[in-house]
Amino acid sequence: MPKDLVIVESPAKARTIGRILGSSFDVQASMGHVRDIATKGNKDDVVRGVEISDGAFVPRYSVIRGKGQVIKGLKPAAREAANIYLATDPDREGEAIAWHLIEAIGIDASKVKRVVFHEITKPAIEEAFANPGKLDTDLVNAQQARSILDLIVGFKLSPVLWRKVKTGLSAGRVQSVAVRMIVDKEKEITDFVKKEFWNIDALVSTINTSSIKSTLVTINDQKSVISDKNRSDEVLEDLGEARFAVSRFETRESTRKPSAPFITSTLQQDASRALRFSASRTMNVAQQLYEGKAIEGAEVVGLITYMRTDSTNVASSAYTETRDYINQKFGSAYLPDKARVYSRRVQGAQEAHEAIRPTSIFRTPDSLKSFLEPDQHRLYTLIWKRMVSSQMTDSKFDRTTIDINAEGTVTKDIYGFRSIGTVPKFDGFRVIYSEGKDDEEDEEGVQQLPRFDRGQELICKGLDPQQKFTQPPPRFSEATLIRNLEKEGIGRPSTYASILNTIRDRDYVILDRGRFHPTLLGEVVTEFLAKYFTNILDIGFTSEMEKTLDDIAKGNAKWNPSLMEFFKPFDETVEDVLVEAPRIDRRELQEETDKYCEKCERPMVIRLGKYGRFLSCSGFPDCKNSGPLTIGVACPKCETGELVERTRLKRNTRFYGCINYKSLDCDIAVNIKPLSQPCPQCHWLLLPSGQSNARCASKECGFRGPIEIN
Ligand SMILES: [Zn+2]
Ligand SMILES: [Zn+2]
Ligand SMILES: [Zn+2]
Repeated sequence: MPKDLVIVESPAKARTIGRILGSSFDVQASMGHVRDIATKGNKDDVVRGVEISDGAFVPRYSVIRGKGQVIKGLKPAAREAANIYLATDPDREGEAIAWHLIEAIGIDASKVKRVVFHEITKPAIEEAFANPGKLDTDLVNAQQARSILDLIVGFKLSPVLWRKVKTGLSAGRVQSVAVRMIVDKEKEITDFVKKEFWNIDALVSTINTSSIKSTLVTINDQKSVISDKNRSDEVLEDLGEARFAVSRFETRESTRKPSAPFITSTLQQDASRALRFSASRTMNVAQQLYEGKAIEGAEVVGLITYMRTDSTNVASSAYTETRDYINQKFGSAYLPDKARVYSRRVQGAQEAHEAIRPTSIFRTPDSLKSFLEPDQHRLYTLIWKRMVSSQMTDSKFDRTTIDINAEGTVTKDIYGFRSIGTVPKFDGFRVIYSEGKDDEEDEEGVQQLPRFDRGQELICKGLDPQQKFTQPPPRFSEATLIRNLEKEGIGRPSTYASILNTIRDRDYVILDRGRFHPTLLGEVVTEFLAKYFTNILDIGFTSEMEKTLDDIAKGNAKWNPSLMEFFKPFDETVEDVLVEAPRIDRRELQEETDKYCEKCERPMVIRLGKYGRFLSCSGFPDCKNSGPLTIGVACPKCETGELVERTRLKRNTRFYGCINYKSLDCDIAVNIKPLSQPCPQCHWLLLPSGQSNARCASKECGFRGPIEIN
């Protein structure tokens, strides 16, 4: 009897499922997508590979290069098999792959069984194969609509940019909005006017206690605002002889709850903070864990649930197992009375309705260490800890607030000082895991405060005025950009990583020390698109578009009319802009420098070429003087060269190397722009580290220290 055929996307997944199902099934891999919208255009195409016929989009699909062999290989087995199980991933993309397989192989529809599961374990696979369903055409249509939509926007916008801004540029539906977020943030930072303010701390104590620091928070019950040194001096003078007394002493218990188990966006954010993984690295490693690894006793099993999800739901069996583990390992103090149920409503929650968690909590990170590669082990540990901690008790603190009043001797103003101390009481979930923090989310330091009584007089041992300035908002990191995209309803679990990849691969933004900066080109293109294609660059519009795709996936909207509704006005705008918009002056894409041309004495500018940024005479094309972009740092290696900015074309990342890399084979290279001064210890390159520190680029030297960065 011929075996039943099972088709999945990848060889790793095929291997795991093959082991679980046993020898009566023939499990094959499609190696990802087998078909895509045709890359060869027809003359009637509205965009390459898509025609409009009777007012509807008709895409033309063709087999992806190199996949002809895969399809040919699957055909005989598909003919023979009595049943064909399509076991692709449980989301739109998986559904679309299954549909393309049916079409490309020419599978008899009566043989097709669609099986859906969120983890590759024996019980889940057996359950799925016992209850096969039909292909969900709504999901297929949503995926199809997204592909065509993205194709339309990219295909129509790119030529506009070529003619109006610069040849070779491209634009994309979602990534252009992501770039806009980065450009807008930069504008906020540029427009930010920093304001001076002063903090005044008092060092107070009783005769018996050690001193504590208390911060001025109010003056006559109003928030204290000290905007300059004069005012600060006035206050210091006023407080010089003042009596300090405790007006309130209060200790309260405060609690902190654990975070919900991971969904795609939170996993990407936390892996970025805790492991310094890029979003795509996180997804690649998560996929390996999901698709299965050989573990103890040569068992092959998927170690985590499906990694593209925006639901925090957890299967009840997983709750039970996790609670058993906590009880055994940590005891009842760490086990809440009831399972914590997380129900997170995300904009347009997608098809895969489970959080990302280990398929068995009893497979601890330690027990798997020898079976996993380092990246896999680190990510698994993070996922495992997050899941276990999500079912543990709150952590508890004693939070003590001491309010201290002092009456000004000159003004009789009442100055209110405050000290806050937090003392951990019970660690709870924090015994194994605390989520990483982004910008400006500093936790209060642990500070034990002595016992004071209300009305008690204190000795002021000193006043410490500090000049401060308000800070501009921080630039986006990968983690905060994903959080912002999610907050705005842009992108979906299956697309965050590719959005970030795409924007990094273009010339529009640059990731410098973990933060996104727009390039001049990114700013010019964004301004152009925002002016002429208001909708495409509008966050609300893009978010609505994502919701429409969600509606199509749920069967609540028809894909073709929805697309047409978008296409018609967009297409008209494209035609108008091609005719009406003036071409951007090349000079707008040039960055000024303080250098002058040694041939014609006109100022030199930075321009963007095929191989990254370079110096060019502003008199171009009259004067063709040009050269690499030097950064004013001498090369410590060959000692004759100077460092220049260069671009790794493949990853579109900047690095800094020696101008003599060809002539003298000087191979010095660093990813961070070095400071103009050399290392004080060894005279090698000095790299900035944080806002006011520097470190030596030489590992042997290891110099680290505060440095004046200008
Ligand atoms: Zn010149
Ligand atoms: Zn050199
Ligand atoms: Zn050094």
